Amino acid sequence: MYPTLKDFVDKIFIVDTTLRDGEQTAGVVFANQEKIHIAKMLDEIGVNQIEAGIPAMGGAEKEAIKSIVNLGLKASIMAWNRAVIEDIKNSIDCGVDAVAISISTSDIHIKHKLKSSREDVLDSMSKAVEFAKSKGLYVSANAEDASRSEMDFLIKFAERARECGADRLRFCDTLGILDPFETFSKIKTIRDSVGIDIEMHTHNDFGMATANALAGVRGGARYVGVTVNGLGERAGNAALEEVVMALKIIHNIDLGFKTKKFIEICEYVANASSRQIPIWKTIVGANIFAHESGIHADGVLKNPTTYEAFSPDEVGLVRQIIIGKHSGSAAIKSKFNQFGIELSKEETKLILENVRNMSIQLKRPLFDKELMYIYNDVQKILNKGANLAV
Ligand SMILES: [Zn+2]
Repeated sequence: MYPTLKDFVDKIFIVDTTLRDGEQTAGVVFANQEKIHIAKMLDEIGVNQIEAGIPAMGGAEKEAIKSIVNLGLKASIMAWNRAVIEDIKNSIDCGVDAVAISISTSDIHIKHKLKSSREDVLDSMSKAVEFAKSKGLYVSANAEDASRSEMDFLIKFAERARECGADRLRFCDTLGILDPFETFSKIKTIRDSVGIDIEMHTHNDFGMATANALAGVRGGARYVGVTVNGLGERAGNAALEEVVMALKIIHNIDLGFKTKKFIEICEYVANASSRQIPIWKTIVGANIFAHESGIHADGVLKNPTTYEAFSPDEVGLVRQIIIGKHSGSAAIKSKFNQFGIELSKEETKLILENVRNMSIQLKRPLFDKELMYIYNDVQKILNKGANLAV
């Protein structure tokens, strides 16, 4: 039998970077009060580590991180740093218990961005990691653009990080260019070569951030970096709600998260980031539990598991039967039942015809009020028919 994800991993930790990578999204700024509120919600939901920001930016950013540290949350609070001692000193000022120390490992970044050499990269990372460890911090050594890095060098980087005391390696698919098969093979290679914990940090440029994060877990990564709503640079990151629900529903790995609160935190972050949740958004979109087509609505009315992978209340949503062009008679009958009206076969048939016509004209599903207009019209037609018959 094909092994399940459970066979590959004993424990999975969720690292949320909504407040760092999420806020790095072009055009997104959180107010400090919003950052604090988001941190509280992430902690309450069950996130293990919160990447709270970049202390080296100073000013309000540093204040926000300090305030989050002072909340005394259960989650570990991590700050993001370049592989620069000064950055780490700023993180220490904020009182965080963990630091991410980031430097590029791909030749393309080393040559064109850092204008440096592989040796210098290893050197800067080693010094920064050793410094942070000497201050008693938990350390993630971040390999930026890891997905485009040469494997031999990436392994060298991971080995050196481990020797310097780093607690884990963050594997960044910075451009989101991996597919799950490649991801699995890369992570497995690193895990088999270097005994260091790995965090997946995946981007969604080709729509594979969550798939790649889970493929990394299958390859041996125990940490998964996520953001609420998948907010993040360009196409975003792996979404918190997707990763947690995919683990729970597809892989039967329940991390014990308060998933009922997903809609609350997703809506809060959507408002704070001025990025509304599209109705078709995975897990928390308004359409995820909305059924209109006749066959689907009929199935769901008989038993929701026919067309729902999980129950809407697991993520704080409610099921909706939408009445529109694609509706069938079962949905119409059920809808009017909710209004306390028992429809006859003939009434149902006439209402359905009218619903379809009106919905095509309006190019949208119908509101309850409109359904009642149709019902009244149908009653008039039927009564007229009855009168004529007399
Ligand atoms: Zn990123």
